Amino acid sequence: MKTEFILQAVDAISIAIHAHESEIESLDRAIGDGDHFINIKRGVTTIAAMREELSALPADVALQRIGMKLLSTIGGASGPLFASFFIAMSKTLKTQQEESLATIAAAFADGVESIKQRGKSDLGEKTMLDVLIPVAQTFRQQVEAGADMPALLTAIKASAEQGMLSTRDMLATKGRAAFLGERAIGHIDAGAKSSQVMISAVCDLLAQT
Ligand code: ADP
Ligand code: MG
Repeated sequence: MKTEFILQAVDAISIAIHAHESEIESLDRAIGDGDHFINIKRGVTTIAAMREELSALPADVALQRIGMKLLSTIGGASGPLFASFFIAMSKTLKTQQEESLATIAAAFADGVESIKQRGKSDLGEKTMLDVLIPVAQTFRQQVEAGADMPALLTAIKASAEQGMLSTRDMLATKGRAAFLGERAIGHIDAGAKSSQVMISAVCDLLAQT
């Protein structure tokens, strides 16, 4: 992975997140406290401001810096979770001699695993993990099956979309929505939506390059 690509991905994510501002905001207002969009925006803006510093670094070091910065800038539950994703991804990339799609899929999966550990959460709890876990699985399976880039990206986007929609009918057992019990049913989780939007934006970027 090239650091230049990471910086392009940050820009693509920023545009996509802003395009979904009101949707993400109102989802978190419905079953959270309404600050999820602001938290994500703060993270994206902070990282975009690190462009010069990051561009001089190898990708694994850049991801590590991004994680550390997110830890100290995004508040809420999501800040430390996103931070641990990037830090774990960085660690895996650092240990790999050769870069391939399989390496990146493994790094992504390790990032997701680290969110599970930090959040003490898993699939089916109405969180961002309902998008991230299926996407990590799809990413790995498609790479193992030798899928070409367009097929891989289409499968990942579909998996993210399906995961995001799956949170609608779930009871929340983690995060603020857990306090609502049955009242959270019928609402998509904000973190699942923002994760789906970000993943989809990165896939669209990859499709162009
Ligand atoms: P806060 O909940 O502190 O207001 P945010 O609004 O930024 O923080 O993020 C809320 C999102 O974080 C939720 O929509 C959910 O997807 C995710 N989340 C919360 N707790 C957990 C957890 N323990 N594990 C995984 N994801 C979580
Ligand atoms: Mg919130």
